[in-house]
Amino acid sequence: MLFLDKIKNTFKEEDYLEIKTAFDFASNAHAGQFRKTGEPYITHPIAVATILVDLGLDVDTIIAGLLHDVVEDTKYTIDDVKQKFGNAIAEMVEGVTKLSNLPIEIDPAARMKIEQAETIRKLFFAMAKDIRVIMVKLADRLHNMRTISILQEKTILRKASETLDIYAPLAGRLGISSIKDELEDLSMKYLYPDAYQYLAEKLDSQITNRLKVVEKISNILNEQLKGTIENYEIKGRPKHYYSIYKKMKSQNKSLDEIYDLIALRIIVNTVSDCYAVLGLVHALWKPIAGRFKDYIANPKPNMYQSLHTTIITDFGEIFEVQIRTFEMNKIAEYGIAAHWKYKEGISSKSMSEFDKKLGWIKEMMDLQQDISDSEDFLNTVKVNVASEEVYIFTPKGTVVDLPKGATAVDFAYKIHSEIGNHCVGAKINGKMKPLSTVLENNNVVEIITNNASNGPSRDWLNFVITPGAKSKIKAFFKKAMREENIKLGKEMLELEAKKRNYNINDLIKEPIMKVIFETYSFDDYDEFYSAIGCNGIKVQAVVSKLLDYYNKTNKTSNNPSITPTTKKYYSNSNGILIDGFDGFLIKIAKCCSPLPGDDIIGYISRGRGIMVHKNNCPNLTNLEKERLINATWEQKNDSLFNAPLHIEVDISNATKSIAGITALLSKLNVKTIAFNTMVSKDNQYMIIKMTLEINSKEDLSRIIDKIKVLRGVQKVSRET
Ligand code: MN
Repeated sequence: MLFLDKIKNTFKEEDYLEIKTAFDFASNAHAGQFRKTGEPYITHPIAVATILVDLGLDVDTIIAGLLHDVVEDTKYTIDDVKQKFGNAIAEMVEGVTKLSNLPIEIDPAARMKIEQAETIRKLFFAMAKDIRVIMVKLADRLHNMRTISILQEKTILRKASETLDIYAPLAGRLGISSIKDELEDLSMKYLYPDAYQYLAEKLDSQITNRLKVVEKISNILNEQLKGTIENYEIKGRPKHYYSIYKKMKSQNKSLDEIYDLIALRIIVNTVSDCYAVLGLVHALWKPIAGRFKDYIANPKPNMYQSLHTTIITDFGEIFEVQIRTFEMNKIAEYGIAAHWKYKEGISSKSMSEFDKKLGWIKEMMDLQQDISDSEDFLNTVKVNVASEEVYIFTPKGTVVDLPKGATAVDFAYKIHSEIGNHCVGAKINGKMKPLSTVLENNNVVEIITNNASNGPSRDWLNFVITPGAKSKIKAFFKKAMREENIKLGKEMLELEAKKRNYNINDLIKEPIMKVIFETYSFDDYDEFYSAIGCNGIKVQAVVSKLLDYYNKTNKTSNNPSITPTTKKYYSNSNGILIDGFDGFLIKIAKCCSPLPGDDIIGYISRGRGIMVHKNNCPNLTNLEKERLINATWEQKNDSLFNAPLHIEVDISNATKSIAGITALLSKLNVKTIAFNTMVSKDNQYMIIKMTLEINSKEDLSRIIDKIKVLRGVQKVSRET
């Protein structure tokens, strides 16, 4: 078989045997399965492993490539893989296995989105531990994209945009340009088919012409370099479609106006040779001003190093020339993978640089811990892997790299979270500018701070783009304003529901709340509300989820009903009324097992709903008082009874007292069915005789207690 032959030629005998064991295991596991293309399923893992071999990866990674779909698609579990092939390989396989144990109550579209985000989150966690897992994922995606045309159009478009948004930039960020370029072109083919077709037809002839020019230039260069530079190579390399397309779009140019369809690459031994060749090139041809870039002195974050310059030849052709060392060239093509491919060819200095550069993955995963919303997490990833960067200078000349589109606030937080939290203004190139200003390459930015400032402003969240800034601002609000956030979150929820003509209390249902709590790992309602209040999760998204569930479970009622929000007691399925809260999970405490009729009280536990205890349960003394909440047994409507009351209030302020009592009763949602007043014999009191509709005796005595403490009230009793 072809694959095994290739392995035999590439690896030592013992490595070959190890890979063959995995090969046989995967073949056996996938036996009888077929891809949508009609081929046996095993062709896919083999293709993935082949890509990994070509990238020069190590035995473990190639085995992980062979086994990568075994857990997702066959009867074997991750434990089987661990047992047979060890921990490292099992962790790689686990890292690329799709997440699919989400609760089923969620609707399919939302579910797919969350699954997508959470699968990527899982992958990043695995990457932070072992970077090789991303090689397996990229190889997997590359082969899937190569063979994607057989799938449904909707699926193709979704996969293609995910590839273009996340995996291609990720490959770019890791410097693996060979994979990045192919992923981009494959995605473009489906996402922008017209543009792709156009380039495919036009480029061939253009490139043939340009290659002739390359040859001419190479000859001239050869004359000059021979004897001066010890060892060199000249190559002309056509740019890939997507980079040309991006350039045409961003610079609004036609194909004829793109001069660097082919980059001329000169590869030499040493850095000083690079600069020597640059001098020579500039002496031979006129450089275009503003186009020279020194990525040797200032490497890109993905370690890319090269000199770039654009020249006009004496016959009027415009060319981009790239000059770099052989080592730089390896890193430019294979990026992080060069580590395995050229074990001897890459200096240890480069490798430790690599490790340092990978810090951003760990950093991002640290920062993402408080990003509970899947969609937000995905956006964070997109911003973070975007390979386009701007370089900003501090007044002291330190370079700070930020993603394109970053603002002065992003810059402030990148320097230090305290600078971010206290920044009040920004000087950009010496001029005061708004904090929301988008920074441009080479800006010199000075952040003005004021220690008396109250901290970040909530609307900064609308313009910052770096996850660091975002999460630090959110963390600030979470900490400093937790109480406010809880209140705000409740109000935001109520308002958002009202906007859609619903009452939030109707929408908060236990099963869907359970899903939401699990999805975002909330421990209690406070966390839920404050996450909304500080924009940690989007209120629209939450209400949409609640509504989806509501509509699914209430298919019969077409018209949304508005019920008054002032209702004080909410009933729950197990016949218990809870004061002022709805949607909680209610559990009967096992320690005292209250029965209907017993006096009861609720305790708001952390993340486990409300525990209902007997009023005199001894355990109550150990619990936090402020978490206790009124609870009663629900009475059937027919067991309502009338309670006549006798109330005496000071005559001087009688009107105010009566207003107070009425307001209280309406707040408690207690119906008044009779009402009468008279003045006491001694002219000191106003006597009120009123009859209330009451659920239970307990209910009545609570109402009496509440009336008693109102201003001006002297006496309250049950009329007998
Ligand atoms: Mn796969």
